[in-house]
Amino acid sequence: MSTQPVQIVARIRPPLPNEQIDDAISVLPIPSSQRLAAARPFRLLPGYQYLRLGQRRILPPLLKGHTLTILAYGPTSSGKTFTMEGSPAEPGIIPRSVGLLFKLSEEGKDNGEITNFQVHMSYLELYKDDAFDLLVSQKTHEKLPIRTNAKGETFVVGLTRVPISSFSDWEKVFRTASQNRTTGATLLNRASSRSHAMLTVEIEVTAHTAETREITYSGKINLVDLAGSENNKHTGNSLANPTRLAESAAINKSLSTLGQVVHALNTGASRIPYRDSNLTRLLSASLGGKALGKTILLCNLAPGVKFRSDVLNTLNFASRTK
Ligand code: ADP
Ligand code: MG
Repeated sequence: MSTQPVQIVARIRPPLPNEQIDDAISVLPIPSSQRLAAARPFRLLPGYQYLRLGQRRILPPLLKGHTLTILAYGPTSSGKTFTMEGSPAEPGIIPRSVGLLFKLSEEGKDNGEITNFQVHMSYLELYKDDAFDLLVSQKTHEKLPIRTNAKGETFVVGLTRVPISSFSDWEKVFRTASQNRTTGATLLNRASSRSHAMLTVEIEVTAHTAETREITYSGKINLVDLAGSENNKHTGNSLANPTRLAESAAINKSLSTLGQVVHALNTGASRIPYRDSNLTRLLSASLGGKALGKTILLCNLAPGVKFRSDVLNTLNFASRTK
C-alpha cells in the first residue's frame, strides 16, 4: 500500500457492445472480474498498483474523525459515474460507502461503543468554476458564492446540508439530486459531463472511550465525479461556440490544477497550488496536508480504439502526479 498522501488507482471498464477494442490496452493485465480489486501490478505505470479498495479498511476511520476523498478522473464514457454510482446490480463507491457507514454505526451502537451517530449530506456541482447546489431545484440556476474565511477554510455560502437518517433516506435524497443535475444540464443545454459533481457526507459520532468518557468525532467523505478529461480540441465542440470554449477552459484549468496539487502533495512540496481552481480550493482542507486526511485518485480507462489517446493522456496525468 502506497504511503503517499494521494494514492493513484486505475480502473479499466469492460468493452461496451460493438466497441472496437484497442489491443494495446487489452494486453494490460486486467483482472477478469473487471473490478477494482486485483493484486497484479499495473505494468504501464511502474509503481502503481490496482488497489483493493477494501471499504472495510478505509471507511472505519471516518467514524474516528478522519477525512477521505475519492476522485474519479477520466474522459467521458470511461466509467467514472459507473464507478462512483454503479448500477442496481453492481452498486458503486457512493452507495456502498454510505451503506457501510450506517452498518458500522449499527455495529458500534450494538456493542455499546457508539452512543450517537449523525450523518449530513451536501452535494454540489462545479460548472465553469461556479458552484450550484444539487439539493435544490436547478430551475433558477443560482450560483452560490465561494468564500475563504480568516481560518483559511473555503466553503460554498448557502449550500444545503441535509440530515440523513438511514440508507434508504439517503437513496431518496440522492435520487432527487441526480434529477436536479440532469434537469439543470438540460435547461442550460449542456452535458452533465462538463461539470464536476462533489458529494460530501459528514459523520458525527459520539463514542465511549475506555475510561467511559464520551468523545465526539467529526469525519467526512468527499466523493467527486470529475468532468470529462478528454482533449477538448477533439470532442467536436465547436471552437466558434463561446460557451463550449469557456467550459473547456474551466475543465482544463481545474483538472490541471488538481494534477499539480496532487503532485505537490506527493512530492512534499512546500507550496500547494490549491487556490488556482475552485475544485482544489473546496477540497483543500481534505486533500493531504492534514494527518487525518486520505485521498484516492481513481483513473478510469476505456478499452475502445477511439480512447487510445485518452488512455495515454490519463496515464500521463497519473504519472505526473507521482
Ligand atoms: P463516464 O461517467 O466516465 O462518462 P460512465 O460511467 O457513464 O462513464 O460509463 C460509460 C458506459 O460504460 C456506461 O454505459 C456504463 O454503464 C458502462 N460502464 C462503465 N463502467 C462499467 C463497468 N465497470 N462495468 C460495466 N459497465 C460499465
Ligand atoms: Mg459520467
